[in-house]
Amino acid sequence: MTVLDVNDVVVDYKVSGRPVVHAVAGVSLQVGAGEIVGLVGESGCGKSSLGRAIVGLEKLARGSVTLDGHEVTPLGRGARPVADRGLQMIFQDPYSSLNPRRRIWRQIADGLPADASGARSAGRRRAAVNELLDAVGLAASAGDRFPHEFSGGQRQRIAIARALAAQPAVIVADEPVSALDASTRAQVSNLIVQIARDRGMGVLFISHDLSGVRHMADRVAVMYLGRIVETSPTESLWSEPLHPYSDALVKAIPQLGLTATTPVAPRGEVPDPSSPPAGCRFHPRCPLAFERCLTDDPALVTVEGSREAACWLQPAGGPARELALLEA
Ligand code: SF4
Ligand code: MG
Repeated sequence: MTVLDVNDVVVDYKVSGRPVVHAVAGVSLQVGAGEIVGLVGESGCGKSSLGRAIVGLEKLARGSVTLDGHEVTPLGRGARPVADRGLQMIFQDPYSSLNPRRRIWRQIADGLPADASGARSAGRRRAAVNELLDAVGLAASAGDRFPHEFSGGQRQRIAIARALAAQPAVIVADEPVSALDASTRAQVSNLIVQIARDRGMGVLFISHDLSGVRHMADRVAVMYLGRIVETSPTESLWSEPLHPYSDALVKAIPQLGLTATTPVAPRGEVPDPSSPPAGCRFHPRCPLAFERCLTDDPALVTVEGSREAACWLQPAGGPARELALLEA
């Protein structure tokens, strides 16, 4: 069941005297209840802008965001103030989003919905906070302390508890474990998975690290230069990526046990989003590009039922793709 429906979203950045940058250039994406969707791609591809737009921290130039069937697109000129309660965001650096001078329990309590009478007693709020601390693996006594008293991983647990206080339907997590050391990274990733499963909550997990989402995401959306170029179930993306960019990202990951092969990063750099290449945006870096790719922009289309790709070699699939692979 789709809980978050992102439809044709465009986010523009305007700096006077410069061309408009379409950081997000027409993205449609769905997240189901209890589903974890990884959003991957190199930095500068618009992943964070898309995440921020979904929770209402960026104004949409076009498109809509629907949560549980209700449109939550910011109306008027500005973005919604922070998030709709049903949509919460977790950031890479939890420290910057926590107030250094307030006790943890108060900061988590800020996210709690007011009860029917409009105010909860302090005791009931504290009990609700203790439950949230427990859900993220922290002791109730952590509530009496201040952010600087915690490690990076613990702060990220606190940020997760605060997001959960609002009982969101979907959490957008923007590189939530990138700043943590390797062992803590796995723990916090596992916590996010467990919470999503237990609560039937959708997660959009943004990461530049494809290997990090492999063991947690149900589905992966690959973003390139403002667009989604592929969405596939995680294992299918791994075993048979449909888009040449996905293929390059998968190949860039060092494979365990295959020390002889050197990982190859996608060749070249992400072009300047203020003047994206004509035709397929990936063509200057694509080893399979052919004539049509230089002029025609491929749309994201359904391939094989549950998969989508934006590439002229799909869904024609078979012969064209194999021919191109032979010629490459
Ligand atoms: Fe490569 Fe062409 Fe496919 Fe773009 S449309 S990814 S350039 S083959
Ligand atoms: Mg980013």
